[in-house]
Amino acid sequence: MGVDFSFMPIEKRVQYVKDMVLALSNELQSEVLNEVTWKPWSAAQPHVNSQLMFRELVDCWHFLMNLMWATTAGPTSPEQLAQLLYEEYHAKHRVNVRRQETDYDGSGKCHACTRSLDDVGVDQRASRGPDVGEPSGGMVFVCGACGAHLNTEKVLGPEIIATHDSHRVTSTD
Ligand SMILES: [Zn+2]
Repeated sequence: MGVDFSFMPIEKRVQYVKDMVLALSNELQSEVLNEVTWKPWSAAQPHVNSQLMFRELVDCWHFLMNLMWATTAGPTSPEQLAQLLYEEYHAKHRVNVRRQETDYDGSGKCHACTRSLDDVGVDQRASRGPDVGEPSGGMVFVCGACGAHLNTEKVLGPEIIATHDSHRVTSTD
């Protein structure tokens, strides 16, 4: 929407993301919050200005869409972006349901980048050998986000390996 991220230098893209995060945070704190009686010390009757708050949330959505455009290759219209959001949301929702069913305790994380492995997936690659603490041959499991070798006994449950393809997170970098 007006900004072509594919030609934007990475430094400018990072700055753009920071600007949008700041704008979104400010919109939530200054505008959305002011449409409810949130101050505990206020003597005003508790109320929610529903219609006005929704308009402020639309402004939030504008900044959130900008953030998504800055990180997503492909969607060119708000409708396409909404469709992608819909698909990613439901994929993540399935992950959350499975976490609840399996008493997720947050331990299934990559030791290197700390991302949850059931979010970013697990890949396989050839071992780089004992010099870097990997087996002397064969394939090893690696973090789908940063590629770090994973100690499968410690961090991987069978459900992560079995299901990671269904909710792979793609990167445009
Ligand atoms: Zn990682």
